[in-house]
Amino acid sequence: MVYLDYAATSPLLPEVIKAMHEAEQKYFANASALHTPGHLSMNKIEETRELLAKLINADLDEIIFTSGASESNNTVIRTFENHEIITSPLEHHSIIESAKELGGNKKPTLYSYMYANNEIGELLLTEDIVKEAHTKGGYIHSDLTQALGKVQLDVKALDLDYATFSAHKIGGPIGVGALYVRKGLPFKPLIIGGNQEKHRRGSTYNTVGIIGFDAALKYVLKNETWKVYNTKIRKLRDILAERILAEIPGSSLNTDLNNSLPNILNASFEAAEGESIQLYLDAEGIIVSTGSACASGDIKPSHVLMAKTGDAEVAHSSIRFSFGLDNTEKDIEKVMEVLPKVIDRLQKISTVERRTK
Ligand code: PMP
Repeated sequence: MVYLDYAATSPLLPEVIKAMHEAEQKYFANASALHTPGHLSMNKIEETRELLAKLINADLDEIIFTSGASESNNTVIRTFENHEIITSPLEHHSIIESAKELGGNKKPTLYSYMYANNEIGELLLTEDIVKEAHTKGGYIHSDLTQALGKVQLDVKALDLDYATFSAHKIGGPIGVGALYVRKGLPFKPLIIGGNQEKHRRGSTYNTVGIIGFDAALKYVLKNETWKVYNTKIRKLRDILAERILAEIPGSSLNTDLNNSLPNILNASFEAAEGESIQLYLDAEGIIVSTGSACASGDIKPSHVLMAKTGDAEVAHSSIRFSFGLDNTEKDIEKVMEVLPKVIDRLQKISTVERRTK
């Protein structure tokens, strides 16, 4: 199988599987309990907090463990309920939908700009946005989900007030994430009714999941994965982009190769429908996605591609290839053996006229 859907989720790293397997037997106790097994569990959670804090340059009590990026995003937006909320139109649904439901006109304003978009990889968090938020007396939140491990992140250098993380995009388990909240800033828990995380997030600690997150973070730090992404993976991604444009008539890129994460490539294929391309590739063992997996089953074109291109046809004919550290040149060869034939077949049977010939 050629797996090119790492931005949707990444397979568990072997180190993560081993750590979680051990944890299930050793660290089963409720981490809030005062007995010895409880303390042992809590120590592992605190080790993970130290590791994440070190990786992103935060203080320990600035990190709250959550069930993932959606929860972290919802928590920040809920904190600013009835406030003015300014976001980029390319944000994840967990920001866009909650801002729509909860926003108002109270000040201070919350700005939410993701570091990098999950569908096209575009880098969205600029120094100007951060400055604007602060000079206007507002706060800046950034969803760092896709950026973690792909670029070096320093929440202090970025001057962020809030930041979102998820474990499953870096080889950790689904259902674990974190929220960075700069010391002393407004915070309203989303889940109340428990004193965990210093009363900031109720619910029994997901010790095994957090230990899995720990193993994935260790892998990121040990291998300085951002360097590998920026060299090996960027090269692979760029080769695929170049070959698609050269070898497939009617193809175009939705990703700006010079202003994107190194592991995401989104391309459109005239007169070929994204879902059909995906299914034909799947039948050949090539796993990709159309736009965002979170929106699949939804027949509306991707809000990201619509915001970028304003063109429903381009959005409906798009495919996202997202790379992980295991991908090789062989994978590109396989894609380029199959993809041109799939597109050709779909274009021939299409009722949609190709615009360029
Ligand atoms: N934000 C971004 C940018 C994402 O890519 C995703 C995952 N598609 C999420 C949030 C949601 O993450 P989680 O699955 O951890 O809730």
